[in-house]
Amino acid sequence: MFYALRLTPYSLLLTPYGLLDFPPSRAIEYGMFTLCVKDSFAAAHRLVGYKGKCEELHGHNFTVEVCVAGQQLQDDGMLIDFTVLKDHLHEILDILDHKYINDIPFFSGHASSAEYIAMYVFSEMEKRIGKGRVSMRKVRVWESDRASASYER
Ligand SMILES: [Zn+2]
Repeated sequence: MFYALRLTPYSLLLTPYGLLDFPPSRAIEYGMFTLCVKDSFAAAHRLVGYKGKCEELHGHNFTVEVCVAGQQLQDDGMLIDFTVLKDHLHEILDILDHKYINDIPFFSGHASSAEYIAMYVFSEMEKRIGKGRVSMRKVRVWESDRASASYER
């Protein structure tokens, strides 16, 4: 009995469960948390130089998913408040909503493809959340239920 009591603290330190003694935000040294939010917008575009139907002016109801990642949680157990992500995404999609995407400055140098829309949303999100404890991971843009493109880092 005496030996068992003496060994207990040791065994805690020698197993991963021993890490639970530390505050939760410092306990997780491995692995990654990922949070994603989704929103949508409607817009027109045309793919200049593309040989096919998408060369003509047309529109889509785009759905956009944004994912951020980080290893260290806040003291409240969250990586970042979902509301913060939703608000940023909504603000960015508002720039695109009911617009002719080709007219937006970023797209004067890039095709208005789902790929570049994903890259655009990624960089706009990164401007807002920075590259600290929480960083941008991925943006996925659906042009339809069956077709999506993503940009990730
Ligand atoms: Zn299209």
